[in-house]
Amino acid sequence: MAQSVLVVVLDGVRPDTLQAALDAGHAPALARLREDGGAHTITTVFPSVTGLGYVPFVTGRHPATAGIPGIRWFDRSRRHLRRGGHSRSYVGWAMRYFDADLDVGVETLFQHVRPSFGAMTMVARGLPRRHWLGRSLGWQVRGARIHFAKGGLGRWLDWDRDVAGRVAQHVRRHAPRFALAAVLTPDKVQHAEGQDSPRLLDTIRIGDQMVAELRHDLERAGRWEETLLMVVSDHGHSPVPRHDELVDVLTAQGLSVAAHPFAGTAKAADAVVMVSGNAMAHVYLDARRRARLGQEALTGRWGEVTRSLVDRESVDVALVPMGDDACLVHAPGRGDAVVRWHGGRVHYHPRDGDPLRLGGPLEGLDAADAWEACQPTEHPDALVQVAMVASAPRSGDVILSANRGWDFRRKFEPLLHVSGHGALHREHMLVPLLVSRPVGGMPRRTVDIGATAAAALGVALPGQEGASFL
Ligand SMILES: [Zn+2]
Repeated sequence: MAQSVLVVVLDGVRPDTLQAALDAGHAPALARLREDGGAHTITTVFPSVTGLGYVPFVTGRHPATAGIPGIRWFDRSRRHLRRGGHSRSYVGWAMRYFDADLDVGVETLFQHVRPSFGAMTMVARGLPRRHWLGRSLGWQVRGARIHFAKGGLGRWLDWDRDVAGRVAQHVRRHAPRFALAAVLTPDKVQHAEGQDSPRLLDTIRIGDQMVAELRHDLERAGRWEETLLMVVSDHGHSPVPRHDELVDVLTAQGLSVAAHPFAGTAKAADAVVMVSGNAMAHVYLDARRRARLGQEALTGRWGEVTRSLVDRESVDVALVPMGDDACLVHAPGRGDAVVRWHGGRVHYHPRDGDPLRLGGPLEGLDAADAWEACQPTEHPDALVQVAMVASAPRSGDVILSANRGWDFRRKFEPLLHVSGHGALHREHMLVPLLVSRPVGGMPRRTVDIGATAAAALGVALPGQEGASFL
């Protein structure tokens, strides 16, 4: 058992980006971790976005089944979100509701482990405010100022250097048994300037400096050997030269449509579009109805609307949840299949084609076998991710994952992204993992990180979906 577990998130860093930085000698402290413990490539959650991507690190659970299906979502039941047109966007001031929106029974490592510490994390249920860096009004005002200022990227880098220093200082002074600390700028740099930006390396160096300082202090205090340090990311990134606008598609179908930033009208709209990342979207049809459409999304008038969405050039994979244990998977040009799940086993039944390119039907796979089956394909871990997001009652009637080079938000983005994430394909789903000591098991998913941290700290988290790899 470890005395303490530290998780450092390099937000939005791809495995190949990190490996290249390590191979070139740009991040010596991270390279040392790779030598000591090892480097792995694992999968994140779908939608592959920040906020949701952190939920597995502290709960061992998938965010959708923990109550949060996207970075934006619509509460068609009207029981959870009463204002703002029953819709939520964690992009901006409403991120403060993230913890409250998680299901009541969801427990975090912050609740179980004392003292604990979090820096720049959206999920922090149970974390005392004085141990939550980035939560105060001062930090939020500072963040908003940078967001709207010219030359914002350079100032975000200064912000992250400041954060890294404070994280090391806090760990030195308070010796938390569990800590989650994020470096946010790799994501911001890639959205604005893409993977080729020289500043991306600067952001990795900030993470490297943070890890170097943490290690130095822990070694000096004689606590390094009993510490498990993991460095991970929450999603990938890839260029998005083309932007589709789903609101226009639905409006052309004669529907009234609501989407952020004008989601206040959602309660009276025919359809609601909630984009994450921006390469993923939940589309809620017949939005005045309080329950999901299920099969009805495929027939009659709503069937027409669904067909107008799922065969677009921008779409790679479309999901239509059918009840609690099945989901239709459609890929333009690759046909349909049904994914079913029951009792921890997942099944893949091609109908006319092989949308996930798995080579044929698959029966009764457990979580580990399902990961192995999908891992070599274009959609690593698709079977389990489809089951998770489709089974979440807060998900849309049609769930879209964007093709490479595309996202789903053109009109309402103040700064068009040159690179993005959110989708189910490899560039967005694969993330790196560095561990400070050799592992006995096989790290597969980010939910395994929460499970491993819990096992190392002797904590039992309810509803855990990951497996410890220690
Ligand atoms: Zn992002």
